[in-house]
Amino acid sequence: MSIELKNIGFTYGQGTTFEHCALKNINLKIEKNEFVGIIGQTGSGKSTLVQLLNGLLKATTGDLLYEKRSIYEKNYDLKTLRQKVGLVFQYPEHQLFEVDVLSDVCFGPKNQGLSLEEAKIRAKEALSMVGMKESYYVKSPFELSGGQKQRVAIARAMAMQPKVLLFDEPTSALDPEMVDEVLAVIRKLASTGITMVIRTHELSLARDVA
Ligand code: ADP
Ligand code: MG
Repeated sequence: MSIELKNIGFTYGQGTTFEHCALKNINLKIEKNEFVGIIGQTGSGKSTLVQLLNGLLKATTGDLLYEKRSIYEKNYDLKTLRQKVGLVFQYPEHQLFEVDVLSDVCFGPKNQGLSLEEAKIRAKEALSMVGMKESYYVKSPFELSGGQKQRVAIARAMAMQPKVLLFDEPTSALDPEMVDEVLAVIRKLASTGITMVIRTHELSLARDVA
């Protein structure tokens, strides 16, 4: 696994009067088992970069290679790319939809074509990785605390067994007392060697783990 950005540029609303250049000449290589922290001022283009990495946004200039192949090639399978490159956003509420925690985490694997039984095995593994006990499986995601919701959102991404996990400020929308539990999960995942790219203002996390 490797991701390479070559002279990437991104302009919002290109060709309109609202044209706004968010990224210019970005060159970056992310290798297997790396933990990359993205830090910078508000408006510096961090969210844009994260969304480029899993193909949610398409660069205006330059090329992005995933496993040495350009994802901008005609007929490139972006659906598979998005399964390999999982994304965890800032607001867990925006990522959880199902009636209970277990069904929610089963969603991705089922979407990948696994049977319900197989999806449940994956989901339980992922939930145990983020420290969610079985008693929570039947709860509605909306009954959970902010920190628990974000841990379920991480499990939801992990259940797809991604090669790379992207985080866009996973703790910034949480109450202060919830931040540590989510950081602990991220540190634990980092120690498993999965490739991670994290946009964060948690400088200690970036310093210790990235
Ligand atoms: P960061 O995550 O570092 O705060 P962003 O990637 O969100 O930065 O934004 C980079 C720049 O692009 C900012 O100047 C922002 O105002 C602008 N921008 C972000 N989203 C849009 C959009 N949908 N339309 C136009 N400009 C945008
Ligand atoms: Mg932003």
